[in-house]
Amino acid sequence: MYAEEVAEMAGRIRDEDIALVRERTSIAEVISDTVTLKSAGGGNLKGLCPFHDEKSPSFNVSPARNVWYCFGCGAGGDAIKFLMDAEHLSFVESVERLAARAGIQLRYVEDDRSAPRPRPQQGQRQRLVAAHAAAVDFYRAQLSTAGARRAREFLAERGFDRAAAERYGCGFAPDAWDLLTKHLRQQGFTHDELVTAGLSRPSRSGSLIDRFRRRLMWPIREITGDVIGFGARKLFDDDDGPKYLNTPETPIYKKSHVLYGIDQAKREIAKQGKVVVVEGYTDVMACHLADVPTAVATCGTAFGADHISVLRRVLFDSDERAGEIIFTFDGDAAGQKAALRAFEDDQRFVGRTFIAVSPDNMDPCELRLAKGDLAVRDLVARREPLVDFALRHVINRYDLDTVDGRVEAMRRAAPLVAKIKDREKRPEYVRKLAGDLGMEIEPVQRAVLAAANGQPAGAPAAVARPAPATPSMDSPRSMVEREALKLALQEPVLAGPMFDAVEAAEYRHPVHVAVRAAIAAAGGAAAAAGGAVWIEQVRDACDDLAGRALVGELAVEPLRIDGEPDPRYVSVTMARLQWGSVTGRIKDLKSKIQRINPVSNKDEYFALFGELLSLEQHARALREQAAGGL
Ligand SMILES: [Zn+2]
Repeated sequence: MYAEEVAEMAGRIRDEDIALVRERTSIAEVISDTVTLKSAGGGNLKGLCPFHDEKSPSFNVSPARNVWYCFGCGAGGDAIKFLMDAEHLSFVESVERLAARAGIQLRYVEDDRSAPRPRPQQGQRQRLVAAHAAAVDFYRAQLSTAGARRAREFLAERGFDRAAAERYGCGFAPDAWDLLTKHLRQQGFTHDELVTAGLSRPSRSGSLIDRFRRRLMWPIREITGDVIGFGARKLFDDDDGPKYLNTPETPIYKKSHVLYGIDQAKREIAKQGKVVVVEGYTDVMACHLADVPTAVATCGTAFGADHISVLRRVLFDSDERAGEIIFTFDGDAAGQKAALRAFEDDQRFVGRTFIAVSPDNMDPCELRLAKGDLAVRDLVARREPLVDFALRHVINRYDLDTVDGRVEAMRRAAPLVAKIKDREKRPEYVRKLAGDLGMEIEPVQRAVLAAANGQPAGAPAAVARPAPATPSMDSPRSMVEREALKLALQEPVLAGPMFDAVEAAEYRHPVHVAVRAAIAAAGGAAAAAGGAVWIEQVRDACDDLAGRALVGELAVEPLRIDGEPDPRYVSVTMARLQWGSVTGRIKDLKSKIQRINPVSNKDEYFALFGELLSLEQHARALREQAAGGL
C-alpha cells in the first residue's frame, strides 16, 4: 500500500529530489520532535512508541540505516513514513515538510499523460496549517494598532513586555466582522478551508465572518511547532462571551491532545525528566520567563489520558525511568478538587505525580507579578507528592484531638493509601499516616488492607455516630471492643468473670464478634489460666481467618492504661462497651416513640416508654461505672 502510494504520488516530485530529501534528513532529529530517544547501544536509539501504548521502549531508530521499527506493534519505515503515520500527512506533504526543514527546493515533474501542473495539490492539513500561519501574522500585526490598546495593557498588567508577547506570538483580533476572513481569502484560502480551520464561520445571512473578535490571541502550537489553533481572551466588559474562547475541534485541532507551550518546553521536559502542568496561557508564559521552562497548559479542557500519552513519550516515562509530572493549582477549593481528581487519574502514570499549591492562592502569573521570578521557581521546588497532598487534604477535615476524629480521618484516608499503585510504597505511607494521625500502625494497616479489598474500614455505624458528651466516654465503640478483648486474652484471671458476663451481642465489629465467639468456644475467659496456652486455645477455636490473626495481635498489644490493670479498669471498660450499645438502643427507642400516636396506640406507647425508662436507668448506672473514679 505504501509502495503503491509512493509510486502514484512520487510522479509529482522528482525522484532525485526525494532521494536528496532522504539523504539530508536526520531521522533521529525528525522523530525527536515528538518522541524522546535514548541510546539503545550500537549507535541505535529507542523510545516509547507513538503508535501503540507501552511502558517499556520497543520503538527503535537506526540513524545509520535511516530507519525506525517498533518491536511492539510492528510499525516501521523511513523518515517520510514516520511523518505520514505520526502526523497523518500524505506522502507529498511529508516530503515537502522534510524538504523545507533541510532547505531543499523541490522540483515537480509534469504528468505526461495530462496537462502540465504548475504546482502540486497540497493536502488539507498543509492548507489548514498555512491558513493558521497567515492568521498569526495578521493578528500579530493588529496588536500594534490603536484598537488593540486594551490588549497591550492586559499583557503589560501581567508583566509581559513586547519581547515576551513576540516570543509567544500574541496578537489581537480586531473589532470587525470579517477583516481576517477577507485577508485570508485574498491570500487564496477558500471558504471551506477557513470554516474547516475554525478561523471563520458563516453568519446568519450566509456570508463568512471571523470567529474571533475583540480578543487577545494566543497561537496554539502542536509539538512540532505548527500553529493549529488559537486561544482568545476576553478584554471588554460588553463582550458577553466566555472569558476564554478556543478553536473548535477541527481535523488538526484536538483539544484532548493539545498542550499549550509544548513546542517550546519539550526539549527541557526531556532533558530534566519533568513537566509542570499549569492552568492558563499567561501561567505558561510566566513560568517560562521565570526560568521554569518545562511548563505547559491544557487548552479549554481538563488534563486527561491523551495528554498523559503525549507527555509520557516526551518524558520517556517508562518502567526503567520515571518522569515527574508536577501540577500547580490555586490553593482554593476548586484547585484542590482538581488535584484530588488528578489523584483518580494517577493510576495511569508510571511516573511520580506531584502537586505545587501556591500558599497565597495565586497562580504562577500572579505570583511572578507580586513576588518575582524566584517565587515561581520556589513554588515548583516546594512540590509535594500527590499522595501526601491528598492525605493531608483529607486529614485536615477532622479534629485529630478526639479519638472519633482520628478514627474517622483514618477511615477516609485509608482508601487513598490503598490506591497507591506502587505496592512497595504502601507500608511507608501506612507508617506516615499513622504518624500524622497519632495512631498505632496496626489499625491503620488493617484499614488500608480492608480498603484495598473493597471493604469498609473500621466499625461502621458506631464510629460514625457522634460521641457521647462525657469525656471518659469519648472512645468509639470499636476501640472499646478491642480493649475488652485484650483484657480477656491478656488478663483472663482478672477480667474473665466480668468479660463473660457481658453478652456477645454487645460487640458490633465482625472480626471482634468472631474473637468474642472464639473465647466463648474455648471455654470462656473466667475458666482460663492465661498465658500462651490460652491464646492458642482461642486461636484454634476461631474459624474466622482475620479473627485468628487479630488474636495474636491483641495478645501483645499494650492495654490503654498506664501501669497494671485492676478490677476497676476492667469494670470501666466493660461498662463503656455496654454503654455504647445502650445509648444506641435508647436513641432508637426515642425515635420509635416519637413516631407512635400515644392516643390511638396507648398500650404500645406506654410499653415502649417503660422500656426507655429502665434503659436510661441502666445507662446511668453504666455511666457511673464507666466513669469509675477516673
Ligand atoms: Zn509500536
